Amino acid sequence: MNTSPPSLVCVPITETDAEAFLATIREAEQTADAIELRLDYLPAEALPQLIAELRSRIAQISKPLIFTFRPREQGGERDLSLQDRHNFWRSLPPEITSAIAFADFELDLVESFASGPPPVPWSKIICSWHNFDETPGDLMERFERMARTPASVVKIATQANRIGDCLRIFEIIERANQPKPVIGLAMGLPGLATRALALSRGAMLTFGALKRGAESASGQPTVAELRDLYRVKQLTRESEIYGVIGKPIGHSRSPLMHNAALKALDRDGVYLPFEVEDVDEFVRDFVRPKTKKLDWRLRGLSVTIPHKLAIIPHLDFVDATAKAIGAVNTVVVEGDGLPRLCGYNTDVAGAMKPLDELMDVRGARVAVLGAGGAARAICYGLNERGADVTIYSRDVRKAQPLADEFKAQTAAIESFDGEADVVINCTPVGMRGHSEDQSPVKAESLRGVKLVYDLVYNPEETVLLRDAREAGGQTLGGLAMLVGQAAEQFRLWTGLEAPVEVMWQAVNLRERTSPPSQNPTKD
Ligand code: NAP
Repeated sequence: MNTSPPSLVCVPITETDAEAFLATIREAEQTADAIELRLDYLPAEALPQLIAELRSRIAQISKPLIFTFRPREQGGERDLSLQDRHNFWRSLPPEITSAIAFADFELDLVESFASGPPPVPWSKIICSWHNFDETPGDLMERFERMARTPASVVKIATQANRIGDCLRIFEIIERANQPKPVIGLAMGLPGLATRALALSRGAMLTFGALKRGAESASGQPTVAELRDLYRVKQLTRESEIYGVIGKPIGHSRSPLMHNAALKALDRDGVYLPFEVEDVDEFVRDFVRPKTKKLDWRLRGLSVTIPHKLAIIPHLDFVDATAKAIGAVNTVVVEGDGLPRLCGYNTDVAGAMKPLDELMDVRGARVAVLGAGGAARAICYGLNERGADVTIYSRDVRKAQPLADEFKAQTAAIESFDGEADVVINCTPVGMRGHSEDQSPVKAESLRGVKLVYDLVYNPEETVLLRDAREAGGQTLGGLAMLVGQAAEQFRLWTGLEAPVEVMWQAVNLRERTSPPSQNPTKD
């Protein structure tokens, strides 16, 4: 029995011509612990050329190689009968068979060698099974059947349609090295936690694409994300887990900020995006200490749309600000002994701190544009500070309850004529991909306004902020709030002052990391 199983970040090669395939192997050697050659990505005419090249070069490749030749019905790129697969594996020259670390044989291929030896020794065979539609309930039975074969590693990859599906994959990973190494992963964004935490929980490897667009499966992070963002090689079962729950979640910048902060303070923890549809189920199965089905050290959550209200009934304590706003964006799992779930809202502190640093708003005339969730946090903060607030919205009737609650006036947004010291945009107008070339108010109306604060942070300078700057006013962009509310979350979770500069740089200067691919290709 292997007492120190490997713990590998494996890069799949998915090129479709032999030259590019070889070049990408060389590139992958720089960052991968192991390299999977997805030979089914090569068309039939290109495969012999690659095998011929590899025959002479394989000894020089510095990383362990996994050969995979997957038929289409099991997620591969080629139509291959069982006979085609037998022929392929039997055709491999001995120089190659002896040099590879592993050959991935699908379960049916493994079972087809029940009465005779396979062309690759059993000690090098990974027995794999994939399901691209779902994570079935009888996964453990399937696992047992695979574990009974003579193959030396068991790999199971299934589609996670909801985050709860990760639980069954974590159960499979739990069986790692009892007695065989295991590879378990859930595909799709809801399955990301299995990929990021696999190594820390004993899995033999996890897959990372060399770059965005080169994924061999849906939801596969890049090797850089696995290593540098989630630091998967440093995590252990004892590492603290943080994350953001919401749907959609793929574009959240919170993982960039919080992981950079955890890393900067050398904290043993990771922050993950959790795509959660059913918050009740998530709290029951992953969060509440008495009912959770996953043994992990979950310490805190960011909560975003659409769960900021729905989370409240699950909490043992909700702080006064969150109660007044009626929305929780932060959950702290307090204490290891008798844990409690505590809810906070850091949007108010995050939004008001940068404003307070620029201006004392007591008595100032403040125009709040929009009357949604962000406006609510802003109105709460402004009311606390004694500002003279008018909420400008496209539907005044909708804004009235908010105005009543926080002693503000209302007006139609088209009527805004510059009668304000401060303008705060709480609408999405000006957002990239929404209305980037627009401003919620006319440029002329900004003459005389002292400060314009736009909660929109992408792009960093919106049309509204540009107009305000040209009109001679001071400006404040939405990144300040984004970082501010995250810094406050970090303080609540860890008791430490957040490294704000680091968080700011992570979210601002680093090139935007696009969400893991959702394309329906396969590991
Ligand atoms: P929300 O709850 O959906 O509210 C959006 C508000 O904007 C609603 O009052 C909506 O009016 C109004 N609105 C939408 N489109 C409009 C348009 N074309 N013209 C005028 N008003 C319009 O969203 P939210 O959570 O408050 O967020 C609003 C924006 O704030 C987001 O898009 C985001 O850019 C920004 N934000 C930034 C941060 C940060 O950390 N920097 C945090 C939260 C939010 P109706 O009710 O009539 O639709």
